Amino acid sequence: MPSCPECENELDIEIDEVEEGDVVACEECGTEFEVVGVEPLELARIEEEFEEEEDLYNNEDEEEE
Ligand SMILES: [Zn+2]
Repeated sequence: MPSCPECENELDIEIDEVEEGDVVACEECGTEFEVVGVEPLELARIEEEFEEEEDLYNNEDEEEE
């Protein structure tokens, strides 16, 4: 079982059951990770920046108001 890169808690995911693009969360520290590779399993920590980028995109969409 893979362990959380942040707190080294074992992540409750089955390597056989995750796919690239899946998001898994560490139950211990709450950090979310995106599965960026499955062979071998590779996790990318999801930063809050993602939300900021979405906000910027939405603002551009609202130009008319
Ligand atoms: Zn953790």
